[in-house]
Amino acid sequence: MPELPEVETVTRQLAPLVSGRAVRAVRFLDPKLGARPPRGIIGRVVRAVRRRGKYVVFDLEPAAPRDARRVLLVHLRMSGRLLWRDGARAPNDPRHIRATVRFDTGSLDFIDPRRFGTFRLAAAEEVAALCGVEPLDPGFTADALGALLAGARQAVKPWLLRQDKVAGIGNIYACEILHAARIAPTRAAGSLTRAEVRALHAATRATLAAAIDCCGTTFSDFQDARGTAGAYGACLRVYGRDGAPCPSCGRPVVRGSFHGRGTYYCPGCQR
Ligand SMILES: [Zn+2]
Repeated sequence: MPELPEVETVTRQLAPLVSGRAVRAVRFLDPKLGARPPRGIIGRVVRAVRRRGKYVVFDLEPAAPRDARRVLLVHLRMSGRLLWRDGARAPNDPRHIRATVRFDTGSLDFIDPRRFGTFRLAAAEEVAALCGVEPLDPGFTADALGALLAGARQAVKPWLLRQDKVAGIGNIYACEILHAARIAPTRAAGSLTRAEVRALHAATRATLAAAIDCCGTTFSDFQDARGTAGAYGACLRVYGRDGAPCPSCGRPVVRGSFHGRGTYYCPGCQR
């Protein structure tokens, strides 16, 4: 499932391709998205493309001065992709295209074999309330993380997956972040010491930033807006590496099932 780094990668690639371009046509090929594309999107110019949590947000300029500010909101969920096609080039594989947005310079396909993704027009005001704090924003400090964690009885691994607390982290990066912070996934979120909160904060930012630099992970068939796989898979330290030596201490990485999700950790480093 695409997480913050993968969505950030797609967002950065799409921004120069569609910013300043007017939407010429929208086609829905999956009735699950709706009977027809939402009215009021045709002719609007994409002002910016940005990420919020795991959402791709297309800011659309009002068509008339009194129009409400709207956004096209896309969540890739399990298997969604946003793939760009230059000009009038036909899609390589049209089977799983659920929607297409056409611009003068090319087309954006929403491809989603498992059909859990969402693709909808929304009010611009909805974006702020979609999820919790952005972990790469300057306002996300160790103190801010500590305030969110305070009193939480939930284990820290499922806590990190909560989009209403810290946005954008999924199963892969939660495992990687906890390993980098040397914190066991089963620890109660509210039980971390000040030093551990600082370590968790630093590991969150460093892990996500490194993954963005590598354009996301190769796991779960992620592809970017040009159809290229990410390179971070080679950098994963514990995720998917059960039985392999921990890069820090050499003990075998363990895979546990925890809250129904595969959880990879090092029993030597993570306390
Ligand atoms: Zn270790």
